[in-house]
Amino acid sequence: MNKPELSVIIPVYNEEEGLATLFARLYPALDALQTSYEVIFINDGSKDRSAAILRQQFQARPDVTRVVLFGANAGQHLAIMAGFEHSRGEIVVTLDADLQNPPEEIGKLVAKMQEGYDYVGSIRQQRQDTAFRKYASRAMNHIREKITRIKMTDQGCMLRAYSRSIIDAINSCREVNTFIPALAYTFAQKPVEIEVKHEERAAGESKYSLYSLIRLNFDLVTGFSVMPLQMFSMAGIVLSLLSAFFVVYLFIRRLVVGPEAEGLFTLFGIAFFLLGILLFAVGLLGEYVGRIYQQVRLRPRYTVAAVLERDQGLRAED
Ligand code: UDP
Ligand code: MG
Repeated sequence: MNKPELSVIIPVYNEEEGLATLFARLYPALDALQTSYEVIFINDGSKDRSAAILRQQFQARPDVTRVVLFGANAGQHLAIMAGFEHSRGEIVVTLDADLQNPPEEIGKLVAKMQEGYDYVGSIRQQRQDTAFRKYASRAMNHIREKITRIKMTDQGCMLRAYSRSIIDAINSCREVNTFIPALAYTFAQKPVEIEVKHEERAAGESKYSLYSLIRLNFDLVTGFSVMPLQMFSMAGIVLSLLSAFFVVYLFIRRLVVGPEAEGLFTLFGIAFFLLGILLFAVGLLGEYVGRIYQQVRLRPRYTVAAVLERDQGLRAED
C-alpha cells in the first residue's frame, strides 16, 4: 500500500448495530472522492461483536481498510490517537462510528483542506442530541472560550480534518488525558471552520454517561489551561482582603456599640458557602495532581492487541 492522500480515523466502542450501515455509506462516499484513501478503525475494547465485524470488513476491503484492535477500553480520544499513529494520509479526517456526522460530508472537509488550510473544524447544523447535551455543551464551549486560548465554535463535533504536519505534532505528544480537537488546534497555523450536517444516532446509544462527559470536560479544561487554579488564588486574595476589612469593622463596632452575638445562622451560611468553595478548590487541585500522577507513571496509554493491515497481514503487537 502506498501512502494514500486521505486517512479516515474511526473509533469504535460497542457499535455492532450500526457498523454495517456505516460501511454501506462510508466506502461509496470515499470512492466518490476520486482520491486514494485508507480507513482506520480502532476497536476501543468493545464488549460486543464490533471487533468481529471489523475483522470481516477488513477481509472485504483489505485494500483500503486497516484495523487496530485495543486490548481494553481506553476512551475515544486515545483511540483516535492510536489511529493517528497508524495513519499515513496527507489529510487525516476523524469521524464517529455512529453516523451522527454523515460520511458524505468528508468531501467538504477535504475540499476545504485543499484550499490550503491545515485544520478544518466543524459546526453541527441543527445538532440532533438531547436538550441537556446541547445546553451543557453550549455552557462548556463558553467556559472553554474564556479560559483557554482555543477558538472553536463547536468543540464536541469530531468530524474534522487535519494536515499531516498537525498529525505528526500530535504523534509526538504523550498525553494520557487529552482532547483531540483542542490539541490539534494548538498546532494549527491556518485553521478554519465549516458547517456540517448532524443526524441522530443511527443505532445503539451514546457511549458517554454524564460521569464520563464530566471527566472529558475536565480533560479539556485541565489539559489546556491552568486558569481555574489561578482563579482560586485570585479569589483567595479578594476574600482575605474583604475579611481583613470586616475584622477592622467588627473591632471598631465592638468599641463603639459593644459586643454582638446575633447573626449566628448568617455566619453558618457564609461559613458553609466558603467551605463549599474550598472543597471544590481541593477537588480541582486533585484533578490536576491526578493527571500529573497518571502522566508520570509512564504506563502505556493503550494496549494494542492486534493490527490488521494488508502488507503485514495479521500482526500481533503485544
Ligand atoms: N467511543 C470510543 N470509546 C469510548 C467511547 C466512545 O471509541 O470509550 C467512540 C464511539 O464508538 C463513537 C465515538 O467514539 O464512534 C463517539 O461516541 P458517542 O457517539 O457515543 O458520543 P456522543 O455522540 O454521544 O458524544
Ligand atoms: Mg455520537
